[in-house]
Amino acid sequence: MYEYRANFHQHTTRSDGAETHQTVILAGLEAGLEVMVFTDHNTHVAGQEGWHQNLLVLMGIEVNDTSQVPEHSHYLCLGVDRDLNEYAARPQQLINAVNDIGGAGFIAHPFERPAPLFNEGEIPWKHWETSGYTGLEIWNYMSEFKSFLGSKLQAVRAAWFPEYFITGPFPETLARWDKLTQAGQRVAAIGGADAHGQTYSMGPLSRTIFPYAYLFGAVRTHLLTEAPLSQNLTEAKGQVLDALRRGHCFVAYDLAGDTTGFRFTAANADEQPVFATADAGPKAMQGDEISLGHLQMIELNITTPLRAEIRLLKDGQVAASGRGQSLSYIASEPGVYRVECYRVFKTRWRGWIFSNPIYVRA
Ligand SMILES: [Zn+2]
Ligand SMILES: [Zn+2]
Repeated sequence: MYEYRANFHQHTTRSDGAETHQTVILAGLEAGLEVMVFTDHNTHVAGQEGWHQNLLVLMGIEVNDTSQVPEHSHYLCLGVDRDLNEYAARPQQLINAVNDIGGAGFIAHPFERPAPLFNEGEIPWKHWETSGYTGLEIWNYMSEFKSFLGSKLQAVRAAWFPEYFITGPFPETLARWDKLTQAGQRVAAIGGADAHGQTYSMGPLSRTIFPYAYLFGAVRTHLLTEAPLSQNLTEAKGQVLDALRRGHCFVAYDLAGDTTGFRFTAANADEQPVFATADAGPKAMQGDEISLGHLQMIELNITTPLRAEIRLLKDGQVAASGRGQSLSYIASEPGVYRVECYRVFKTRWRGWIFSNPIYVRA
């Protein structure tokens, strides 16, 4: 198993970001990113893809319908080869176009809260009637930050000490995700910086509150692949998109502790002894489907690189929890199982890891 720290949501001067591609790439290297995808609004920029030392740079776009006020329903189109603006007002066709190209598509910041003091309205997803998207961006750092700009005093505190404010995905986003997966859909989750390098100004106060390198070390997605990423760009791009489509990844808040090495796996009795020996490979990993098998039971295993409060959820409800670096659970019912881990960081419990689900089928 190979693991790569990735960011799939970032802007440059080609839309509303503050820095050029080259500067943002350097910030990614500084933050230890290994995969990044540029997602400027409605703009595909050619000629940027490739390996930069150990960092794989790919292209995407964030498409939004500019005729709307505010411009809600943003869609991250990863691994596409052109801008798809002709579909901006037709979300289902946009989703289909990304799939036809062989990309991966994610609903950006599905739920939002307004920040009227800063003239920022809510820009959630408003097209839940659509289908075929790869998944949801369950945790968007800048979107969560925006939710703390309710008063001037709180905004100043949040801008200077964001670590004391950021706590995890919005509950309504997680609830929507659970609802979608319980309805039978496989929906992958990613988390992203939505980095712009913005400066927030308020009276005499002005500050570049979120330099790119800072955000790239905060909320990110860890990608899991069966083989190392190829040095060949086309092959590596295929590996990244394949892992995303299969949900072979988890959402991590690495500021609260390095999440590298987190694993969530499942084995049934048909392919693998249920009570597997330590060196037996997993049958399924997060994002995968697995059947209960002839014994009608699955062993789910969770390991974390640091001590944490580990919660295993079945269909959105906590089925087991514990504190430590591992949790095992025998599941005898079909359902959608996923993991949330929490750690104390800056004086309080904060979301640390949100896995993709393992879909246990009858
Ligand atoms: Zn957006
Ligand atoms: Zn964005």
